Amino acid sequence: MQSVNEQSNSQIIFLNPVFKQMVWGGDRLGREWPYEIPGDNTGECWAVSAHPNGDCTVREGVYMGETLSALWEKHPALFGNTGLDRFPLLIKLIDAKADLSIQVHPNDAYAKEHENGSLGKTECWYILDCDEDSHLVIGHNAKDKAELADMIHSGRWNGLIREIPVRKGDFIYIDPGTVHAIKGGIMILETQQNSDITYRVYDYDRTVDGKPRTLHIDKSIDVITVPARNVEESVVKTGSLPDNTANLLCSCQYFKVWKINVSDSAAINQEYPFLIMSVIEGDGTLNGHPVRKGDHFILPAGYGEVRLEGKMELIASTI
Ligand code: ZN
Repeated sequence: MQSVNEQSNSQIIFLNPVFKQMVWGGDRLGREWPYEIPGDNTGECWAVSAHPNGDCTVREGVYMGETLSALWEKHPALFGNTGLDRFPLLIKLIDAKADLSIQVHPNDAYAKEHENGSLGKTECWYILDCDEDSHLVIGHNAKDKAELADMIHSGRWNGLIREIPVRKGDFIYIDPGTVHAIKGGIMILETQQNSDITYRVYDYDRTVDGKPRTLHIDKSIDVITVPARNVEESVVKTGSLPDNTANLLCSCQYFKVWKINVSDSAAINQEYPFLIMSVIEGDGTLNGHPVRKGDHFILPAGYGEVRLEGKMELIASTI
């Protein structure tokens, strides 16, 4: 038994992504990333997910073909025996060809009560690419709930919504209650709680098949934080991080996220319940295994020393 355990905990668990077509999606995941996409409106790549709406399968090795949710249930030791009832994180790539709706997520307590026991959603974005003059929606300008409700009900969106300029490499932390939206031309890697609960506040008066998409005005007003937190508290510029080391971008109750820029060789220690990694640029090796842009994988509990070699950029996360 010992040797079987040792063997499986030394495996790299590579995953097959699940793709989602969206009204606002594009074709960059098929053009700039090594994926077969289902159409030229592919908005999301669920890269590491055990969510019922998109459960990734293992790409190779002894667990090939298993879903991540099944692996989590059957082999909790791979994930450090956390005792959690589901795989806690979800990693997505998002290609926004058009603006996404302006939205907000509930916290765990609100989602549990109003959304059938779902988790709430805290998320963060690493900007993979964007246009020169890109902006994101983060936060709002209402001073209290009454003003918030008034501005929403009377459709004063320009006054309400706070936009900030962003550049490639910016990292943005979004806690529940923060109004947010990705605008067209932006590609991100999102690290989030394993939840699919989104309240849509405003959809730019667009229609899909002749109908506006459902808005969730009352729930949004319930959960939006007033006043909004400072932008400076939510954004990290990653342009000058040192090479060949794991740079911590964010550490909150739900996840830790690192950026790793490998320029020749980096050594890190997988000492966490599990470590998720996504190669977002370049290629190289991980303990001798070839890895390249577009690969997403999990290093199990007890994996130990990780040697990354080559020229590549990675985003890593754990709980
Ligand atoms: Zn969101």
